[in-house]
Amino acid sequence: MSDQNRTEINKLGEFGLIDKIAEKFSKQNNSTKYAIGDDAAVIDVGDYYQLVSTDMLVEGVHFDLSYFPLHHLGFKAVAVNVSDIAAMNGIAEQITVSLALSNRFSFEAIDAFYEGVKAACDAYKVDLVGGDTTASPSGLMISVTAIGKVDKDKIAYRSGAKVNDIVCVTGDLGGAYMGLQVLEREKQVFLENPDMQPQLDKYQYIVGRQLKPEARMDLVHELLDLKIVPTSMIDISDGLASELHHIAKHSDVGINVHEDKLPFATNTQETALEFKLDPNTAILNGGEDYELLFTISQDDFEKVKNHPDIHFIGYINEKSSGLNLVTTKGNPIPLKAQGWDHFS
Ligand code: ADP
Ligand code: MG
Repeated sequence: MSDQNRTEINKLGEFGLIDKIAEKFSKQNNSTKYAIGDDAAVIDVGDYYQLVSTDMLVEGVHFDLSYFPLHHLGFKAVAVNVSDIAAMNGIAEQITVSLALSNRFSFEAIDAFYEGVKAACDAYKVDLVGGDTTASPSGLMISVTAIGKVDKDKIAYRSGAKVNDIVCVTGDLGGAYMGLQVLEREKQVFLENPDMQPQLDKYQYIVGRQLKPEARMDLVHELLDLKIVPTSMIDISDGLASELHHIAKHSDVGINVHEDKLPFATNTQETALEFKLDPNTAILNGGEDYELLFTISQDDFEKVKNHPDIHFIGYINEKSSGLNLVTTKGNPIPLKAQGWDHFS
């Protein structure tokens, strides 16, 4: 092929590339209910839907072993996949774990990784049912697939948000991103002066958010008990703004979120200010919090209005009004999605 026909991947972006891949394929089995495009694939197995999600973590791209303990990495690799099952309002039941590793790793290192995998299997009640192990020329690559299930009338796609629905988010945002900034800074300090010990006490909360994220499976169980089916749902892996764009696009709606309603921890805000960053940048665009972003119908609000860990951040509007952040002063400003783009 001549260079004139060459399309750079970074021109397409991650989502553009996925769209191009998806375009190539058409459905061959009726059991394939929903293929590429949501947090998990949806397979009709008769009485319920089976959910399948897969995610890859690559050394040097997603984690740095100089500050990422292997047992935490094992936990995180499982949690981020369970989170995608949770984002469909499903319950994860099985995982497979595949590794590509170099001879740089000892058995003890891999065992530590699997201690983390096991802790996550216990925490989320999932079974490790297989995987693959292969050699890698240098770095560590981890691929996890999670399998789950959901009742057909309880599935939550990205596409079901309706005008007037309430936009909800669990937990607090931006912490994992600020935790990463701290870890990267301490790494640089250490590289310049190996006698310096990292100072992490003050940042315990946000560093924990980066190293030990939890899948919000607890919320899925709570919604089930409360008999609430979210009209749409997605997990926050790339940042709130990016996930809001997905909901708006898939549901064909507009969204207003209110700046003064966005949940964040004091530790996140203080650290952002210390790094001379606008805390809103971390809250809106910082990834990897793995909280759930979802919409509920107004009729369900009474059941959750006093929930300590669900925050009501805005409303669904007609598509024509777009996606906006309503500032504390009441001015709507169009919300751009920055998120993570691994190809830029
Ligand atoms: P998430 O952040 O929730 O894990 P992604 O943005 O990674 O979701 O993926 C979005 C959708 O694209 C998912 O349905 C995923 O399975 C699909 N996808 C991503 N990469 C590929 C690929 N290389 N081939 C086919 N499908 C893909
Ligand atoms: Mg997801």
